[in-house]
Amino acid sequence: MPKTITDQNLRLLIDALVAEGKRVVGPRAAGTMTLYAPLAKGEELNLGELPRRSAKETFFPLCETILTYERDKEGVRVTDVDPGTIPGTVLVAARPCDVAAAPVLDSVFSWDFKDEFFLERRRKTTIIGLACTRADDACFCTAVGLSPNDTKGSDLFLTPLTDGGYRCDAITEKGEALLATHASLFAEGDGTPAPLAEPSLGKLDLDRIKAWLDTHFEDPLWGEIAERCAGCGACAFLCPACHCFDIVDEGGETKGTRRKSWDACGFGKFTNHASGHNPRDVQPQRYRNRIMHKFKYYVDKFDQRLCTGCGRCIRACPVGIDIAEILSAIGTRDQEPGTGKD
Ligand code: SF4
Ligand code: SF4
Repeated sequence: MPKTITDQNLRLLIDALVAEGKRVVGPRAAGTMTLYAPLAKGEELNLGELPRRSAKETFFPLCETILTYERDKEGVRVTDVDPGTIPGTVLVAARPCDVAAAPVLDSVFSWDFKDEFFLERRRKTTIIGLACTRADDACFCTAVGLSPNDTKGSDLFLTPLTDGGYRCDAITEKGEALLATHASLFAEGDGTPAPLAEPSLGKLDLDRIKAWLDTHFEDPLWGEIAERCAGCGACAFLCPACHCFDIVDEGGETKGTRRKSWDACGFGKFTNHASGHNPRDVQPQRYRNRIMHKFKYYVDKFDQRLCTGCGRCIRACPVGIDIAEILSAIGTRDQEPGTGKD
C-alpha cells in the first residue's frame, strides 16, 4: 500500500534525520541558484528548480583527500583516509535524471579497481527521488530511455500530488526501512498525482546513433561540431554521469596530502603524456571522446549510457553546443563507414 507525506512532514522528516546525526543533502538555495547541498533543517529544502550542479557530488566529491604524508628524521609516515568514517547520508528530493546516474556510475567505480570512497558513500546513502512536474527546453530524459518519474536508483520515490503533498513509494529495502522508522510522518493512501513534466525531445534512436558511432571514429562531423568548443569543462563538471578524476599530491617535502579531484576530457591537457605527446591534441578529438564515451564505449563495456538527458551541459555551454541536437543529427546521418579525417 503506497503512503503519502505532506510537504510540512517532509521537512519534519529532514529535521528528524538531521537530529539522528545523518548528513542530509538536498536542493538548497545558494545565492541566485539552487544546489544540492547539506541541509541543516527541513526549511532549507528548496524545490523550485533543477539544481545547477548534479547530485553526483554526494558520492563523488569535487575534491577529496585520500591520504596524508609526513616526513621527519625518523622517516616517512603515510596515513590512508579511512572510507569507514564517511557518514550515513540521505539524499532528499533528487531528480530522476540525477538519481538514474548513480547505478550507471556504480559500474565503473566497482569494475577493475574498487573505489572504496565512492562505494562506501553509495552503501551509506539512502536516495529519496522526486518526480518532475516541470521541464525546460534543455531536458531530454525521455529521449534517452528515462522519464520524469523514473525510479531507477531511488530507494524511496516521491510523486507530487495536486494537494501539495507527495505519494511515497518504497523501491528498495533501504526505502522500506526509512518509511518504517519514521512511520508517524506518513499516511496511508495514494492521492491524486500532479501532471508530470513533458520534455519536448520525445525519443532518440539510440541504436542507430550507436551504429553510426561504431563506424565513424573519423568523420568531418567532429570538426564541424567541435571547432567552437572552448574546452572549459563545464559540461563534464555539471554532468551527473561524467566521472573522470585526477590524483595529485599537494604539499611540500615534509608533509602534504594526496587528493582525488574532478577532471574532464574536454581539457587540453587531460591526455597529455609525460613525454609531451598528446594523443588528443585538438578540440574535435576531445569532443568526439565525450560523445563516444557516453554513447559507444560505455555501452560496449557496461551496456549503459553515460547520459540521463538532464540538459545541464546544454544550459551551461558558453558557446551553445547542444548534445541533444548533435545526437539528433547523428541519428539521421548516412550509416556508410566514415572516410573523412577528423
Ligand atoms: S551529457 Fe549533458 S544532458 Fe547528458 S547527463 Fe550529462 S550533462 Fe546531462
Ligand atoms: S561546456 Fe561547451 S565549450 Fe565547455 S567543454 Fe563543454 S562543449 Fe566545450
